[in-house]
Amino acid sequence: MFCDEALDAVEPIAAGELTPDGRIADHLATCPNCAAALDSARRLERMLQARPAPRPAAQFTSRTLARVRRARWRNEQFLDVGFNVAIGAIVLAVIGGIWMLLHRSGLAAVSSDAMDLFGSGMMTMVRRVAPSLPLYGAASAVLATALVLWWWAERDATL
Ligand SMILES: [Zn+2]
Repeated sequence: MFCDEALDAVEPIAAGELTPDGRIADHLATCPNCAAALDSARRLERMLQARPAPRPAAQFTSRTLARVRRARWRNEQFLDVGFNVAIGAIVLAVIGGIWMLLHRSGLAAVSSDAMDLFGSGMMTMVRRVAPSLPLYGAASAVLATALVLWWWAERDATL
């Protein structure tokens, strides 16, 4: 039995992970160096166990959750913006297409009867719809205002 073998066992014994068997127990009983090493290891172990574990700050959980929520909200806002931009682009493309159809500037080469029919049909529709346009505009404005208010409310709720 050598000291280094006993010293290897000192820390597990002090931590309570190892029960010293006969040989090591005998050595620890007879070798003052190893006994002192076990003694200091046990003292260190007791000190570590007596030391209070640092507690998280009182509002750690709520603050962390708030931060997670905010990050998620930003993510959703980003997606919303992307979605709105895509919808806006589609609406613009549709409006541009209708405008081009009405003015038929881009369709000068394709002057078939079908196109004329379609164009005049569109003109009739537009003429019929035109008087109601202010109403549609007002309805859209009300809807937009409601959406903005809802967006603000939602934002305050998630913050
Ligand atoms: Zn020894």
